[in-house]
Amino acid sequence: MTSQLIHSHFRATRIRNGGLSGCDCFYLNFVFIFAIYRRIPHRMNKENKEHIKPYGKKQPQFDRRYLEMARIWGENSYCKRKKVGALIVRNKMIISDGYNGTPSGFENICEDEKNRTKPYVLHAEANAITKVAKSNNSSEDATLYITTSPCMECAKLIIQSGIKRVVFSEKYRNNEGLKLLERARIELVHLDI
Ligand SMILES: [Zn+2]
Repeated sequence: MTSQLIHSHFRATRIRNGGLSGCDCFYLNFVFIFAIYRRIPHRMNKENKEHIKPYGKKQPQFDRRYLEMARIWGENSYCKRKKVGALIVRNKMIISDGYNGTPSGFENICEDEKNRTKPYVLHAEANAITKVAKSNNSSEDATLYITTSPCMECAKLIIQSGIKRVVFSEKYRNNEGLKLLERARIELVHLDI
């Protein structure tokens, strides 16, 4: 269609100007195609960005609010040493939530008799991600709001689940998880709440 338009344009120009050489035609076609190619990736990037950060200029404000909601959600945790809350948001919708705790069907006690966290306690983000897996939702291009930055194990889950942004407030005791997320080019946002 576009090509037909160009050629009809050149036919008209040729009539007016008494003819264009094949060389001119090739050059102008090249300029036109180059202009289109330059625009397509730009537009796709812009759409992608809007898709991942749909609130535009208000994104920082919404990031903070969602993170505050994640903190409140973490209060549901029955763990005594630390309470962590997580939310997964995609296209302006909360598609999942989680807090740290033992797997379904286990006793609601996170610590052993020496007050150490039991090895099978699930982290808040792992609970939120696995909850998406049980639903009809997809976490592709979603944002994870988490009160404590992810550990290495959770960082792997985040990468594999297609999450593209992680907004967190407190830093986990080691930053291996954050380093891995950085390597996977996942946007990290640290907010004090
Ligand atoms: Zn973790």
